[in-house]
Amino acid sequence: MAENFDLVVIGGGPGGYICAIRAAQLGMRVACVEKRGALGGTCLNVGCIPSKALLHASELFAHSADLASFGVKTGKVSLDLPAMMGHKDKTVSELTKGIEFLFKKNKVTYIAGTAKLAGQGQVEVRLNEGGAQVLSAAHIVIATGSAPASLPGIEIDEDRIVSSTGALALKAVPKHLLVVGGGVIGLELGSVWARLGAQVTVVEFLDHIIPGADRDVGKNFQRMLKKQGMEFKLSTRVTGIEKSAKGLKISIEAAAGGAAEILEADVALIAIGRKPYTDDLGLETVGVATDRGQIVTDPHYRTNVEGISAIGDVIAGPMLAHKAEDEGVALAELLAGKAGHVNYAVIPSVIYTAPEVAWVGKTEEQLKADGIAYKAGKFPFAANARAKVAGNTEGFVKVLADAATDRVLGVHMIGPDVGNMIGEAALAMEFGASSEDIARTCHAHPTLSESLKEAALAVDNRTLNF
Ligand code: FAD
Ligand code: NAD
Repeated sequence: MAENFDLVVIGGGPGGYICAIRAAQLGMRVACVEKRGALGGTCLNVGCIPSKALLHASELFAHSADLASFGVKTGKVSLDLPAMMGHKDKTVSELTKGIEFLFKKNKVTYIAGTAKLAGQGQVEVRLNEGGAQVLSAAHIVIATGSAPASLPGIEIDEDRIVSSTGALALKAVPKHLLVVGGGVIGLELGSVWARLGAQVTVVEFLDHIIPGADRDVGKNFQRMLKKQGMEFKLSTRVTGIEKSAKGLKISIEAAAGGAAEILEADVALIAIGRKPYTDDLGLETVGVATDRGQIVTDPHYRTNVEGISAIGDVIAGPMLAHKAEDEGVALAELLAGKAGHVNYAVIPSVIYTAPEVAWVGKTEEQLKADGIAYKAGKFPFAANARAKVAGNTEGFVKVLADAATDRVLGVHMIGPDVGNMIGEAALAMEFGASSEDIARTCHAHPTLSESLKEAALAVDNRTLNF
């Protein structure tokens, strides 16, 4: 006999688990099926959290060399990689268990197993502990996330040719790490291993890194990473990787075509994007429509099949945990007859390197392409007292505002702690603020956030401290 629920969520990542909790809060009887044996999805298990644990720890290691300039004398600092990995694993395990607690608190039924769509309102689960269970529900939410994309002819073994998952668990610091893809994963995990002593070369197909970010920020970011020792081969593609006992031989050539060159490395990280994950889900059984792997949804997250919705990385839009979470909340509220909504114009992006990169809204390139007249105000961290105190003066904040109305259209930052600072910019944009509104808001001194106020003042050419 099928066990009946109001809502069955397939996938316990940030999209799925948040949707399950919000729906339960709104009075629905909810089950969440997750196959990996731990809740939290890619984000908690092999994504956001373990990468940030390693970024934080490796930054401490790299900065230990600078402590003397602050008058802090230490002995010789050395790396204990197993302990660093232990910190990462402990953080992950505590957070995933925290979601189990939240499920209990909100009375969400957690089912550890692999779900498959089995017909209208029916989900079949192959339980991790053995056996099967059939669930029925008025609503089914697909939140099965994404998986790393691979390069044709190159097999990821998670040992020497790794995806992000393998790169989060290397047993030793590689002498030479070759990163394919100058996007978020390549630069975050490239930074981790560079700080721990690896020589890192990034091969990027395009003529610039971090496509999607403001070019001005991207150019400065590349310059800063280069200064840290990272090497870049832009407009270049990898055509093959040959494994031998001695290491990897990576064939590269110009993206436009040309003579091949061989690079040697001991580990290659393939970080060329992620693809929606729907393997063995039974989409074809019920006829859920997809487009290049993504599940097609309407603005209320409904698929073409009555009673089945989808959210997160498996549908269109940026593959970000907070986007998946907000969709989870919006969908649960819509299913409960409320007015759930996500403002896709105000979804912040952050790259957690040093310096950090963060932005929200439109880039200068997008505004130009859209023919929107804008004014730009920029303020360097070199002129910010708090950044100076911390010896962290690289980077800037840039505010883009509509030339006619002064409404803030985009904010772009590179520098210390800008991942936290972008929250204020997102809030301002959500409330439809003008640059004048930000400039007239009292900001505590001395804080990094004064740079946002000064960049807003700069829109009208009236910075006070630069
Ligand atoms: P997922 O988190 O992928 O969860 C889907 C879950 O569904 C998985 O646990 C999977 O096991 C399960 N599942 C799949 N099929 C089935 C099935 N048939 N039955 C049962 N369960 C199933 N985003 C950020 O915003 N900030 C970051 O700092 C960040 N860092 C990242 C770092 C790395 C290395 C990576 C890889 C990603 C990072 N991301 C980050 C992206 C973020 O992890 C994803 O956008 C987010 O996890 C998507 O959430 P989701 O719920 O859609 O899917
Ligand atoms: P990405 O899309 O950010 O970057 C991939 C890069 O690889 C691009 O610059 C692309 O031009 C390049 N590329 C593609 N094919 C190539 C090829 N054949 N040779 C060389 N370069 C090639 O993807 P990613 O870095 O793999 O990250 C995947 C997703 O995970 C992203 O959507 C991102 O949003 C998410 N993520 C987010 C964070 C964060 O928010 N801090 C961190 C990690 C991952």
